[in-house]
Amino acid sequence: MNINELGKYLHGTHIAEIWQSLLTLYDSVDHYTVAFQQRHAISCPVGCGTCCEHFIPEITTEEASLVAAYILLVKQDCSLLNRLESFDESSSVCPLYDKDSPFHCTVYPARALICRLFGACPSSDKQNRPIFRKCKYNTRNDTPEFVLPQEFLIEEQPVSVMSVFGTQLKALTADQILKPIHTSVLEAAGTLQFIMRYFTDNDSGPDIPNSPTPVAS
Ligand code: SF4
Ligand code: SF4
Repeated sequence: MNINELGKYLHGTHIAEIWQSLLTLYDSVDHYTVAFQQRHAISCPVGCGTCCEHFIPEITTEEASLVAAYILLVKQDCSLLNRLESFDESSSVCPLYDKDSPFHCTVYPARALICRLFGACPSSDKQNRPIFRKCKYNTRNDTPEFVLPQEFLIEEQPVSVMSVFGTQLKALTADQILKPIHTSVLEAAGTLQFIMRYFTDNDSGPDIPNSPTPVAS
């Protein structure tokens, strides 16, 4: 199963609708950032994941639910939940970072909005104009230090900045609360495991393959 098939497991439920809405938003963000980077010859060094070594994302309940669903239903890898449970809060490395994996992120298809935008999307300057600043860890000489992407506006599509996508995310967010990724994903995993058990116990829901042993409820 891939992440786009997640909705069928809880088809017709609010949580499945939220996953779908998030994936639609993420898809548009990814299209935008790829086009933006191509337009302005921006790229990260091959294999770089330094941002994830200095960043503990704070994410919404809904984003955490998608990450938890990806871990439990797509990857079916409870070791990631164990990793979140034993996370040392004094660490500055994201608990879902894996130095040895190709993308470094163990939940790459489900990663949160901020993880998609960092280093790849303009923000706003003091005059509220779009500006892209090269990530301080980016060692590529062929990536510009900054871009004022006004021409992008004229030729192809309106320039979006991080806050625009942030507003779109907020529209999907019920409680507006951000929590560190280890806390929020563990809570979401507990909720999801409860729901999955309900569907299974009542034999009225989807066929959930090899539901992992709950570790986070
Ligand atoms: S969730 Fe993934 S992309 Fe985001 S900071 Fe952690 S390892 Fe990096
Ligand atoms: S955003 Fe910066 S730290 Fe992250 S992968 Fe790109 S260059 Fe590396």
